[in-house]
Amino acid sequence: MGIDPNYLQKPVVRTHEEHEVREENKEEGKLGIHGRAVAVDFDLCISDGICLQVCPVDVFNWLDPNTQEMKKQSELKPEKNSQWKADPTREKDCIFCMACESTCPVNAIKITQG
Ligand code: SF4
Repeated sequence: MGIDPNYLQKPVVRTHEEHEVREENKEEGKLGIHGRAVAVDFDLCISDGICLQVCPVDVFNWLDPNTQEMKKQSELKPEKNSQWKADPTREKDCIFCMACESTCPVNAIKITQG
């Protein structure tokens, strides 16, 4: 179980901070998948913050999907299963090192180059 590897085939419902959002459905309580090159399934993310720690180029911010409030890694101590999700805010800076994808304990992240 993890992020759907075919997420790019799903329709884009909106954009957020210049990245694509798929599968978001507020009526069904689905937070959806944020990002194209760096895709994070918010419904799987457990807010442990490992991706924010391992990313060498600071791609991620914390995002509260309900309020749209954002915080930098330095502004928030990770708390498991909180409302904060790892948003790939600066996915354009990704250097495709795969550190986030390989360390995420719930396989919520998929990197797609090109
Ligand atoms: S693949 Fe590497 S550079 Fe890209 S978001 Fe993940 S940790 Fe950051």
